[in-house]
Amino acid sequence: MIKPHILILGAGFGGMYVARELKALVKKDEIDVTIVNETNYFLFTPLLHEVATGALSPNSVAEPLREIFAGTNVRIVQGTIESINKKDKKITVLGDVNGDTIHHRVKHEIEYDFLVIATGATTNYYNIPGADIHTYPLKTLADAAFIRRRVIDSFEEAVMCSDPLVRAQLLSFVVVGGGPTGVEIISELAELIKGMVKRYYYNTKCRPDEAGSCGPEEPTLTLIHAGAELLQQFSPSLRKSASDRLVEAGITIHVGSAVTSVSPRGIELSNNTTISSSTVIWAAGVKPTIPPFEGTESEGNSPALVGGRLVVDEFFRLQGDEHIFALGDVAGYIDSTKTSDKPMTLPMLAQVAVGQARAVAKNIKSSINGKKLKSFTYHSKGSMVSIGQWFAIGEIFSMKIAGKLTWWIWRTIYLFKFISWKKRLRIVIDWTLDALYPRDITKL
Ligand SMILES: Cc1cc2nc3c(=O)[nH]c(=O)nc-3n(C[C@H](O)[C@H](O)[C@H](O)COP(=O)(O)OP(=O)(O)OC[C@H]3O[C@@H](n4cnc5c(N)ncnc54)[C@H](O)[C@@H]3O)c2cc1C
Repeated sequence: MIKPHILILGAGFGGMYVARELKALVKKDEIDVTIVNETNYFLFTPLLHEVATGALSPNSVAEPLREIFAGTNVRIVQGTIESINKKDKKITVLGDVNGDTIHHRVKHEIEYDFLVIATGATTNYYNIPGADIHTYPLKTLADAAFIRRRVIDSFEEAVMCSDPLVRAQLLSFVVVGGGPTGVEIISELAELIKGMVKRYYYNTKCRPDEAGSCGPEEPTLTLIHAGAELLQQFSPSLRKSASDRLVEAGITIHVGSAVTSVSPRGIELSNNTTISSSTVIWAAGVKPTIPPFEGTESEGNSPALVGGRLVVDEFFRLQGDEHIFALGDVAGYIDSTKTSDKPMTLPMLAQVAVGQARAVAKNIKSSINGKKLKSFTYHSKGSMVSIGQWFAIGEIFSMKIAGKLTWWIWRTIYLFKFISWKKRLRIVIDWTLDALYPRDITKL
């Protein structure tokens, strides 16, 4: 018997969990599964801000796909998905080949019986001039490493700088975006910077040939948010606790002001304010990454979109194609349980993607066996946001919580979301070291 081939594009929360669920639901010799992903690891994005600020080491938050799927029928392909050919049921992937003297990319075609699109999202700069060139996004492991390096570099450069204006620019750290990612990164950045100033850079005001000392107040941290309130998805009391905590940490908050342009020297805001900074972190939003579909629109090859996301039916199948499923950030699954007049697509969250992955895997199994497919209803488990060390806010099953215990619950929940005990142990070690010692400022 020819085994159906399930080809999964993307090994994030959606794609990786579809493969894991298929592994549990269908016998190894009944299907073939392939995952194609840009990197050879699964990235745990919710703790990326801790890598960017030195609380966790980069490989603590990345789990190798070959380790997750060792001994299973899941084949791993590392490469860039170039296109999808719906008509011939195949995709094109570009893979790297680095020989002794040459580096080139090789094209591969992979056929499928069922395709799962889970390519997630990428940073959205909203066409703001300079934003894509002069800011630091936080979406990949490389992004987190760049941010950490940039922060350490800013201090090293400030030590050598005699011009007070340039020094102020170097020691001004700006985060754009007042959602969970922006709030988490700026609050951890405040922790990192506080420790750096206290222990290592207390004399940044002096050049190496001068005597004197620098006040620890010299670095500045600014959070910019275009909306009227930070963390809009939380209740007003929790929003207030969060912003009080940020202010206590020395962070200046600008709400209701959008960034209009970014240059190497800083940002311009819609209220005509200029903020000088050499380190602007962009956490203002993401947009779906959909691999191009081959063929023309008139041939019916262009998929339907909602808010830039692929429209899927209640079983996660792409409109007009029963062999293609899509989920996670890339899919515009419309939440029919919402009572509002306008249809609402589900939020771009890991918990949404994981919930959908279970439904997709079951529906693929049913499709193979010619059984009835099941629709999906999303039930939020609530959300939590950490605000530096020892403080978090959360709404779990309509219960509002904030403080040290919430922070501890937040950490414990995330710890147990990792796949392997090896990674959990590594994270506990990193967190323990972070509690006992100053953060490592080795510039890698
Ligand atoms: C910094 C940060 C913090 C977050 N914190 C939280 C949180 O606390 N809680 C929460 O619920 N959600 C959080 N999210 C959102 C969450 O990460 C996403 O909603 C979730 O990852 C979506 O899963 P996905 O499978 O759709 O996409 P992803 O997990 O992004 O996976 C997509 C995969 O596809 C791969 N890919 C994309 N294009 C190609 C291509 N052309 N070729 C090959 N591979 C490709 C990518 O490399 C990636 O591995 C956070 C996101 C970020 C960036």
